[in-house]
Amino acid sequence: MELRPSTAGLALAEDFAIARGSRTSQDVVRVEIEHEGVVGRGEAAPIYYRGETVRTALAFLSEEAPGRVGDDPFALEEIGRELARDGREAAARAALDGALHDWVGRRLGMPVWRLLGLGRITPPTSYTIGIDSLDGTRDRARRSRGYAVLKLKVGGADDLDRLEIVRRESPVPIRVDANEGWTLESARELLPALVELGVELIEQPFPAGDVDSFRALRELSPRPPIVVDEGCHDLRDVAAVAGYADAINVKLAKSGGIREAVRMIHAARALGLGVMIGCMVESQLAVAPAAQIGSLADWVDLDGHLLLAEQPFEGLELRDGRVTAPDAPGLGVEPA
Ligand code: MG
Repeated sequence: MELRPSTAGLALAEDFAIARGSRTSQDVVRVEIEHEGVVGRGEAAPIYYRGETVRTALAFLSEEAPGRVGDDPFALEEIGRELARDGREAAARAALDGALHDWVGRRLGMPVWRLLGLGRITPPTSYTIGIDSLDGTRDRARRSRGYAVLKLKVGGADDLDRLEIVRRESPVPIRVDANEGWTLESARELLPALVELGVELIEQPFPAGDVDSFRALRELSPRPPIVVDEGCHDLRDVAAVAGYADAINVKLAKSGGIREAVRMIHAARALGLGVMIGCMVESQLAVAPAAQIGSLADWVDLDGHLLLAEQPFEGLELRDGRVTAPDAPGLGVEPA
């Protein structure tokens, strides 16, 4: 099995700000595998709070992965275990896991969602409105019409004003994501307004390590469900979340790929947790594997590719606000 890793920079359509900062581009790692004349491709965005960069991801795929993948792309479980031996480089592993699933699907002439025994219809995706001024938020909300759900990034100075503006501009469900940017005091203060405005869920209000604040927030009623993103990466993190929140946000760039993501979802269900499937700012090549398992989620947040200036890969469909994998072999996306 030949591995061809690479990196790419993706330009965003416009400035994107969250509680931790602002950016206009996103670096991703990609890998092509070739075996018996069939090529599979995958991509993921390394996550800085995991200590990963495209440089470390590329080094892992160039220097370590080739000696661990063996020569049978169907051996997904064993390959995944070997690659995850030391738990590092989840994005690199996710890119490779995507390429392997793409290869298997293409080799068998079957979409990955079908190989996994799943449907292709997912819950509608949210479309993300980054942190901006009040006028900027109004403008972004107006331009987001047509999406079935909105996700407002919060954790800035004007959270409540911005939320009220979006509520006035759009009748669709609104989620908020603070990316660890709130304190228990700010959450307490905002909570009655969040309930009144019908906020569907609160994502990662507090720093991942501040479990006490999560527990205190969970005691308040009424309140929207609390979803853990930055605090839940892979299967090992899921059980703890049941002790302080209501749901997990599963992302392949954190889990290391489809197989671990599915294990996380089953564990979450056993623990009574809700499930969101999300992504990073990534191209369709990285969003496609998440779309393949989107039908397992309560909430879907697969808008990474919708935030880009250009589409280097194509094939995903947006149907009634749902990011839908095509009825095509493998991940169903091709270079544009
Ligand atoms: Mg999030």
